[in-house]
This record gives sequence, structure tokens and C-alpha cells, in this order.
Amino acid sequence: MKLIFATNNKNKVTEVQALLNKRFNVLSLEDINCFDDIVENKDTIEGNAILKAKYIFNKYKVDCFADDTGLEVESLNGKPGVMSKRFSGPDFSSEKNMDKLLKLIEFSENRKANFKTVVALIYKGELTTFTGLCHGEITSVPTGKKGFGYDPVFKPVGYNFTFGEMNLELKNQIGHRAKAINKLIEFLSKKISNK
Ligand code: IMP
Repeated sequence: MKLIFATNNKNKVTEVQALLNKRFNVLSLEDINCFDDIVENKDTIEGNAILKAKYIFNKYKVDCFADDTGLEVESLNGKPGVMSKRFSGPDFSSEKNMDKLLKLIEFSENRKANFKTVVALIYKGELTTFTGLCHGEITSVPTGKKGFGYDPVFKPVGYNFTFGEMNLELKNQIGHRAKAINKLIEFLSKKISNK
């Protein structure tokens, strides 16, 4: 089954490809020569995932899905959340984002946080969303060079090391994106077997 994944983030494509079996032929936006700058201007993670999926569906009329992820920090009332990517401003980088976050909660005893991924699927013209959460805590310093984004400062519940120190195989078993994508796969598998 051909599905367009509305992203050009190579890290995400690698993560998702590792989760999908051969029944699903996932193509990125680059694969379909779509280089549009889809402006993510909604104020929720779910809103942005839906916006991206609808954009691709309206333009290409194909089955497609999009994801949006944010890091929600309890003592910051869920921030950076939908602002995770640009948290440190227009010239953002992962390092600057992590620096800003660590400074903001420097004196906070509550380090609880969770990653949240929402996947929005448009299959045969119908929209369905799937949410994946991964709970954990924010460390006091970044550790590890694996993964991307906030991975070096996020320690998932049950592990004494960060996502930045975790191999992709394990992150794919316990991570937020994997959980949302697995729900997507379960949904699509049922649709196929009901045919
Ligand atoms: P996106 O909208 O899904 O691209 O995610 C927004 C931002 O959240 C990214 O730019 C990263 O900073 C952060 N992010 C998303 N997924 C992850 C992850 O799996 N680990 C660490 N940071 C992530």
C-alpha cells in the first residue's frame, strides 16, 4: 500500500521506516517532488498534524499521514509543546532549545515531562488521529549524541540514561512516535484485512 508521509525529516523517515513492514510503501514529500513550505500555524500539536495531512491530501488526493511532536514539561505548563522546534527563537537549534529549557527549569524540583506525538491519517478521504506519549524527566545536563532534538536531555521512565544515549531500536520500542505509528499500523492492518 502506497502512503505519503508528509515530512522531509530524514530522522523521522528512518524511525518510521524501521517500524513499518513491507506491506506499506512509505514515500516522503521529497519522493513525490513536493518541496512546499507547509506553514504550521496551529496552536496545538494535533492541529499541526491535521493541517499537514490535509494540505497533502487536498493537493495530491492520495492516502497520506503527517505527524507532529512536542516536548511537554510539567513545571512549564506543557511548554515548549507545539513550540518545541522554535523554542529558542528564529535562529533556533537543538542546542539552543535545550539550553533555554534547562535554564528555565534550573531550580525546579519537578522535572517531569513527556513527548507527545500526534499522527493524522487521511485514508480514503477520512481523517483519523493517533496519539503516542512517552513519559520521563528532564536531566540537568545534555548527555549522549544519538537521536535528535531534545533527546540528550530526556530520560524515559524506567531507564537511567537519556534518549541521546539510546539506540534507535530501543527508542522505537518505547518512544512516543513509535506508539502513535504502531496505532496507525494497527488501524491500517484492520482496514486491509476487512477487505
Ligand atoms: P516536529 O514538529 O514533529 O518536527 O517536532 C518538533 C520539534 O520537537 C523538533 O524540532 C524537535 O526539537 C522536537 N522533537 C520531535 N521529536 C523528537 C524526538 O523524538 N526526540 C527529541 N526531540 C524531538
